Amino acid sequence: MTLVIAVDGPSGSGKSSAAKGVARALGFRYLDTGAMYRAMTWWMLREAVAVLDADAVAARSAEPVIELGTDPDAPAIQVDGVDVSVPIRTREVTNAVSAVSSVPAVRKRLVLLQREIIAPGNIVAEGRDIGTVVAPDAAVKIFLTASEAVRAQRRVKELAADPVATVEVTRTEQARRDLLDSTRKTSPLIKADDAHEIDSTELGLHEVIEAILRFAKE
Ligand code: C5P
Repeated sequence: MTLVIAVDGPSGSGKSSAAKGVARALGFRYLDTGAMYRAMTWWMLREAVAVLDADAVAARSAEPVIELGTDPDAPAIQVDGVDVSVPIRTREVTNAVSAVSSVPAVRKRLVLLQREIIAPGNIVAEGRDIGTVVAPDAAVKIFLTASEAVRAQRRVKELAADPVATVEVTRTEQARRDLLDSTRKTSPLIKADDAHEIDSTELGLHEVIEAILRFAKE
């Protein structure tokens, strides 16, 4: 029997580290669906598509060839054969990604790709709509949260190389992104009815991983 573990939650809730840790512990593959939306956004910006123009984004959304690895130790991502693992994490992409990911044509295409990758099972998939839309039959669904302040601090650490990314700026940008992600019409960020909620505000990474592994063994 194969297992699908869905990990959803807002930005900075610790999804990526927890999902990778669970995948390593179980010898499972790992799928970072946020990286796919980021890759699409990176490509749109490179092509000078007006990312706030949903029709313009939809019109070009079938063009980029997005390929990603599922090794939790090296989840590489390529667009048209170019490794974009680093550039998809810039503030420019981060601040544009919610607009691109709210376009139904973008979601339709990427959800199909995600389902293909998930289909063989034994995978930990993280994102915003895994438990609700991408893999509603996942055996284990986790909704990971943390206080806004802790989430902003975690993001700042990730953005250490960017001098503009103070806690305050990051907190404002993150709040804006979370609002857009949770209020968009198509597949907003919401907890699946049957998801286990884990608040990681006071938990270390190891404790979050252990909690998810306990649910996986139930
Ligand atoms: O997880 P990460 O912060 O890298 O996700 C980047 C963005 O991709 C999110 O802010 C959201 O707009 C979009 N996303 C999404 N659905 C997913 C995963 C990510 O809309 N399943």
